[in-house]
Amino acid sequence: MSSAVEQTLGVKRFGRILRIPTPTPFGVGDINSYVILPEPGSDELVLIDTGVGTDEAWQFLQAGFNEYDYAIEDITLLLLTHAHTDHFGQASRIRDVSGCEIWGHENVYSTVEGFLPSEERIKEEKAFLRGFGFSAEMYDKAYDYREFIGEIYKPCKLDREFKDNDVVPINGFDLKVIHTPGHCPEEVVFWQVESRQMFSGDHLLPDVTPVCLLDFPASPGAERTHTLSQYYQSADKVIPYDISHIYPSHGDVFEDHRALIAGYKLSTERRLLKISKILEQYGMLTPFEVGQYLFPKVWEDQLYAVISEVMGHLDLMFDEGFVTMHEVESVVHYKLHRVPRPGAIFKPVSY
Ligand SMILES: [Zn+2]
Repeated sequence: MSSAVEQTLGVKRFGRILRIPTPTPFGVGDINSYVILPEPGSDELVLIDTGVGTDEAWQFLQAGFNEYDYAIEDITLLLLTHAHTDHFGQASRIRDVSGCEIWGHENVYSTVEGFLPSEERIKEEKAFLRGFGFSAEMYDKAYDYREFIGEIYKPCKLDREFKDNDVVPINGFDLKVIHTPGHCPEEVVFWQVESRQMFSGDHLLPDVTPVCLLDFPASPGAERTHTLSQYYQSADKVIPYDISHIYPSHGDVFEDHRALIAGYKLSTERRLLKISKILEQYGMLTPFEVGQYLFPKVWEDQLYAVISEVMGHLDLMFDEGFVTMHEVESVVHYKLHRVPRPGAIFKPVSY
């Protein structure tokens, strides 16, 4: 679960990289957009992530460019780490004024459709969440932000979809795409091999643990991705990279991604123990009930984040045989089988 962080990072240049933070209406604070400045004699200007689609964010972005004698209108290529509103919100407006191309992962559309679902889809999602102990009213409350999404986010088409291991050609600054799903299905990080720098999106954040959002199956009865397990597979994929500096979407530039990931794993293990204790004390529970015990103060206001967090951990425990699943009146219940000791879930990664 993220905790709110106040950030006041300024516009800052790191070699060819320019960081422009812009404000968001979310607890996470500012989002960092990154600009790859052109080589001398070139007019290639690349932007990574856009900020939310508000006039305020637009003005911050434009002011950041202006400080270095550029303008949003000069952008030639927009790259997306993923399709969340704070990363993609200005994309169509930027394309309108600059004529740039927009590239993102091929899974972008699954997230975009999730923001603005059809009536039919909403019915399916309600039924799906009922299976975790959610009432229809809770669903409505969990998604009451959707109206607001329309104000800060305008979906638009991608000009190119990239895949894991694709290379984005930039003069003297090629970026390798590493697909790192978990926080969301389309999340990627960008790796600049010569300078050993990485743009980590929301995959690696120095001040908060990335939330791994609950996956809604594409159709009723279809398989659901275990997003927290998927997140750690992605994190393990990044561990071997010999990175000098990491540029995250939220928070300041940092260096030691291995220490950061080790810290995430420790906090996940601590939460698994907490869930074990809850199940030991109260017996068989629905995921929703686990959420109430695990987050007694915030569950009501953060239903989607809480159910995502709970299911991520229960999935990890189930996959490793620490809990069993039981269906009672079409609602899934979890029962503790054995307590996961530290080191039981995460295996060391060699590099
Ligand atoms: Zn995100």
